[in-house]
Amino acid sequence: INPFAKRMFKMLTLSNFYTNDILKLFSDKFTGVDVKASFEKSKETNFYEIPEIDSENKIYKVKFTLINNEKDKKYSLIWIEDITESKILERKKSEFVSVVAHQLRTPLSGIKWTLKMLLTGDLGVLTDDQKSFVGKAYDSNDRMISLINDMLNVDRIVSGRLQYFFVNIQFLDLVESVIYELMPFANKRKVTISFKEKPAILAPIFIDPEKMRAVVQNLIENAIKYTKAEGSIRVILTEKSDTIYFEVQDNGIGVPPAEQTNIFTRFFRSTNAVRVQTDGSGLGLFISKSIIETHHGTIGFKSELGKGSSFYFEIPKQFKNNVTTNNNVVSK
Ligand code: ADP
Repeated sequence: INPFAKRMFKMLTLSNFYTNDILKLFSDKFTGVDVKASFEKSKETNFYEIPEIDSENKIYKVKFTLINNEKDKKYSLIWIEDITESKILERKKSEFVSVVAHQLRTPLSGIKWTLKMLLTGDLGVLTDDQKSFVGKAYDSNDRMISLINDMLNVDRIVSGRLQYFFVNIQFLDLVESVIYELMPFANKRKVTISFKEKPAILAPIFIDPEKMRAVVQNLIENAIKYTKAEGSIRVILTEKSDTIYFEVQDNGIGVPPAEQTNIFTRFFRSTNAVRVQTDGSGLGLFISKSIIETHHGTIGFKSELGKGSSFYFEIPKQFKNNVTTNNNVVSK
């Protein structure tokens, strides 16, 4: 027991102490933590961690490890880290992002509807030039709204507050409607989308439709964004016995090999992507990964620089209710 731990357990004056004393002090400080059970759990993965536990107005991280590196001796190690400061900062930052994002949402929606009225001629007829400029302002404003929504969602994911509503729905229809919606964007960029490899019929699958729509949209939109003109995109949907597999292939710019490990991290944008598309937040794939994992699925990608990429995910068609995850899963 080191000086810091002695201070923490207020045992500086104690010169002789036994393991049982320490365990008693530990149980008093961290009520509800079963030391024996925690060490049992640590056997499987070498250590067992309680990532966040409150005690006497402080926040701690506790790790349990068994060390068997000497012949007949076994050591048990309890590692306690005071993470109060970083957690308070994280909570404050998260509150700040949430307040700013909420405050920005209302005026941005106001601007959206005013620009829409101008575009549809409700406030008088515009010349073609005026229409084109107002149209650009409308698109930029829309991008800002979706960025704010992404920031709010990331905040909810990180703090475990993103709520899910699972229902049985037709996934095939969902993919088709996303492609239909993205067609004007693809046409504008002279990129073709084909969706021929799909099952003729697909039984309803148990998902949160709004969240999964965001994932499908993000993957196809990225393929359009990061593909040069005249490019082509293939969307594939395959039904397996217990899962469905979805893939979007493009022949676009690809991801530089050295940067590939960062692809699903928050705010990551590859150097070549920033060059061709100044617009982008690097939040879409982070959000998509979290959504797929909450659906008990896996997401991945393969990419060759300058040749193209394919992003894919696989999710179970049905999964048991009441499974605990990082996020709140609410099923209807
Ligand atoms: P954004 O597109 O807003 O930057 P994303 O999280 O959707 O955010 O994507 C993160 C980064 O991953 C992109 O900036 C780009 O560098 C890379 N990326 C995603 N999809 C593709 C793709 N189809 N081809 C090449 N790079 C991609």
